[in-house]
Amino acid sequence: MSDGRRLRFAIIGAGMAGVLAAIKLREAGLDDFTIYEKADRLGGTWRENTYPGIACDVPSHLYCYSFALNPDWSRPYSPGAEIETYFERVAREHDVTPRIRFGAEVLTCEWRGGRWHLEITGGLHDEVDVVIAATGVLHHPNLPVIDGLDSFAGASFHSARWEHDVVLDGRRIGIVGTGSTAVQITSAVVGRVAHLSLFQRTAQWIMPQTNPEYSDEERAGFRSDPVALAELHANLSRLFADGFSNAVVDADSPQMAMVQELCRTNLETNVTDPALRERLRPDYRAACKRLIVSPDFYAAIQQSNAELVTDAIERVEPAGVCTVDGRLHELDVLVLATGFKADAFMRPMQLVGRDGVRLDDAWAPRPCAYLSISMTDFPNFFMLNGPNGPVGNFSLIEVAELQMGYILQLIEWLRRGECREITPTRVAMEQFEAERSEAAGHTIWTTGCKSWYLDDRGIPATWPWPFHRFRAEMEAPERALFDARA
Ligand code: NAP
Repeated sequence: MSDGRRLRFAIIGAGMAGVLAAIKLREAGLDDFTIYEKADRLGGTWRENTYPGIACDVPSHLYCYSFALNPDWSRPYSPGAEIETYFERVAREHDVTPRIRFGAEVLTCEWRGGRWHLEITGGLHDEVDVVIAATGVLHHPNLPVIDGLDSFAGASFHSARWEHDVVLDGRRIGIVGTGSTAVQITSAVVGRVAHLSLFQRTAQWIMPQTNPEYSDEERAGFRSDPVALAELHANLSRLFADGFSNAVVDADSPQMAMVQELCRTNLETNVTDPALRERLRPDYRAACKRLIVSPDFYAAIQQSNAELVTDAIERVEPAGVCTVDGRLHELDVLVLATGFKADAFMRPMQLVGRDGVRLDDAWAPRPCAYLSISMTDFPNFFMLNGPNGPVGNFSLIEVAELQMGYILQLIEWLRRGECREITPTRVAMEQFEAERSEAAGHTIWTTGCKSWYLDDRGIPATWPWPFHRFRAEMEAPERALFDARA
């Protein structure tokens, strides 16, 4: 990038995307930035989710930065702690860590006099030209409303707030939910606990997967051949883009039929008791909810100390969970693997844009953004993994890298002095949103299930087109679709 106007940046959040933003800004010669992180460590979702069995079900050789490939992953799908360590290492090696202000939550962010004014916990204040919100997608726990939940006498916590000092061994554990999180916890703890009750409201399709440890020789091979490692990353990226990501946006695609068949065979082959098999069989199509990938969930739920509870939860009592059939499931520990509030994004931060427009009002019906990156009325405010972007069973790192490349081009307009304020035009935003909502109707996510992908209208809050279209959109911003003011 050329020399030009000196710009100051605030990056909100030191997770995968915040660290990426810092590295890329610096690479572009934009070194005047601070990352504000409310916690005391970096790592985002991998810092917050530490439940037993946590792993990433996107292949590790894809779920890493393209510029910091890692030959040392322990498995094709690595555990969460290893991923967190990876982000810490990359941040350290790129000298990003010293630029993170920990324990600093951005409370308000207000556009005044052509700049963003940030009020941060601890009485801090900052004034910047550009804000990059890297606040994550699934961040705020969704706590279920269940009668008597507070009366439970044992330990009870959300999966993203795991209490590691609570003993599980030899005790009776209840898990509410059957999403990716609950499935991973079930497999990880069933061998340790006296009894496990899995409270299932909706059955889930499970995609089989194997995950053997890489041998020392394999890791040495990755280390000694960076070209092969880069090829592996590129091939996985192609595989996901051309395969799964394209398939989910076309419910009638042959690939979707193949996914369905793999899941059905997994269920038929690996669950022996016909009654249990039927209780585990979803009544909607595979990948309508986010597809769960597991090598061992069916084995875990068939252990003699495991029980699948399909009667609905009526209330919680001090001794355990009561289901509508009148049964009390006595428990020592109750885990709420009940997911996240998927529409919160950078909230509860108060964002006030041009002419006093508040984010809560702009998003009153539901979150929306042009290409999931920027919003009318909020100049020079850019999001990584913002609303309605590509989410699902593929690498959000790749998504964030492409978005950051696009954002840097917008920033370059500012730096060259071509304009001082960039927002998408209202027409661009409305047209994009209309097309997006229309296209969403063809996706697998609308084929008859409830999931966190769906917005208040039942329309998937996701990117509804093939991934190559996303790549193409991210290549260069279209000037005519932006209101670039001097
Ligand atoms: P989730 O997919 O939203 O699942 C929440 C579960 O809780 C569902 O089974 C839901 O039932 C149940 N539930 C919610 N409220 C309930 C209530 N009041 N009573 C009974 N059941 C209730 O949440 P998650 O499993 O934490 O996963 C969230 C997302 O995180 C995933 O979709 C994925 O994107 C990501 N994740 C990824 C990985 C990975 O390996 N990459 C691992 C974990 C999570 P219903 O289905 O009936 O609503």
